[in-house]
Amino acid sequence: RIQLPKDVDYIIKELQKHGYEAYAVGGCVRDVILGREPEDWDITTSASPQQVKEIFRRTIDTGILHGTVTVMFDKNGYEVTTYRIDGEYEDNRHPKEVTYTPYLSEDLMRRDFTINAMAYNEESGMVDIFEGLMDLENRCIRCVGSAEKRFDEDALRILRAVRFSAQLGFTIEEETLMAVRKMAGHLRNISAERIRTELNKLLLSPNPDRLLSAYELGITKIVLSEFDRVMDTKKTTYLGEEPLGNYALRCLKILENTAAVWSTDNDESSSVYLSKEKEHLVIAWSILLHGLAANEAKEVLKRLKFDNETIDYVYRMITWYNYEFILTPYGMRKAVSNIGKDLMDMLFCMRKILIQGEEDSLDCEKGEGLKQAQSLYEDILKRNECVELKNLVVNGKDLIELGIKPGKNMGLVLKELLEAVLREPSLNNKESLKNLAVEIILP
Ligand code: ATP
Ligand code: MG
Repeated sequence: RIQLPKDVDYIIKELQKHGYEAYAVGGCVRDVILGREPEDWDITTSASPQQVKEIFRRTIDTGILHGTVTVMFDKNGYEVTTYRIDGEYEDNRHPKEVTYTPYLSEDLMRRDFTINAMAYNEESGMVDIFEGLMDLENRCIRCVGSAEKRFDEDALRILRAVRFSAQLGFTIEEETLMAVRKMAGHLRNISAERIRTELNKLLLSPNPDRLLSAYELGITKIVLSEFDRVMDTKKTTYLGEEPLGNYALRCLKILENTAAVWSTDNDESSSVYLSKEKEHLVIAWSILLHGLAANEAKEVLKRLKFDNETIDYVYRMITWYNYEFILTPYGMRKAVSNIGKDLMDMLFCMRKILIQGEEDSLDCEKGEGLKQAQSLYEDILKRNECVELKNLVVNGKDLIELGIKPGKNMGLVLKELLEAVLREPSLNNKESLKNLAVEIILP
């Protein structure tokens, strides 16, 4: 017996009142049974999209061609999708056409894994034709029907199998696993966006180190061949010599543990620059790809069609993560002005994790150095010291009043003023800086 959220219950009953069948279906049913909070609630129904739209006042045509209408209540949206069969698949990618069907069983049959192919409503209870409950019980990922056939229809399911196994901590059932190994090459036909989504979900999961399975199964060779190169590179740590990739995965696992602490204990600690999820992804990708040159990492993320902000952050993280801080107040201000305030917290986090991954404990020399750097950085924040051009109290306008023309020259003056302020923070007041500016331009 499942407790459906009020809106979902209402949508289902309203559809039934009009003579249609309707069920909560897929990921939400799976998650509720596992005691996880579902990300979203999907509803499957015998009503056509047109019929759904006639019943509910506020709807959005999200995927009307695929039979999906989003029903809105306040700010919450619920995807209501007509029972459908995915037609023949073209190039392991798109169903050529979707056909509606009057049968729930056929709609469940098109779904990827048994644990994702259960439907529920109050009237009928759990509809579980493929023994999804049993597979949930046994913590196992199994394709609905013939695994090879299902992967041939849509190769993304190959990566989804590993992603779900990482999210849920499940194993992949034998036949499904054999098909993964055999069919991994088909992932070549899948779009970068769909691959990126799955890789990100894997990296944000409690078991990001399951990327190792993706490697062993020949998946990364297709979708992230740079990782295979990182696996071929050797690194010396306290464990002796090991593949750099193994080290990176161990660090990802540490990141996951740290992130779990952030998100439960301390919502305040979130960055003012990025959302928590994006911050986590930036650090994860930086750790994963830190064995590459910064511009190689950039190319990887470009190929996966990441947004420019993420690409830029990862690029800068990999550029700076190895920077040797000079542990004086001035040295630190100088470093922060080069690296950028927006990067510092994530950079410290990454370095701390890289050290933890390398050593038995943090009580080592590198860890001490890092703590000192961090405390010097906190002093800068506490005193609100200026380390960036935009925080100088004089701006271009002030300089124009002093007779400096806009352009290259003004840029140089501002840079010199910043350098002076980095050396002596108390100089960041209008009078001192104007005097300094005049001194700079006079000779
Ligand atoms: P989550 O939202 O947590 O990532 P989910 O199971 O809800 O997990 P979605 O991608 O949101 O996954 O898809 C919703 C449902 O649609 C799945 O549970 C599954 O039944 C079906 N589905 C999604 N993608 C596929 C696919 N490529 N092949 C077959 N069925 C799929
Ligand atoms: Mg979902």
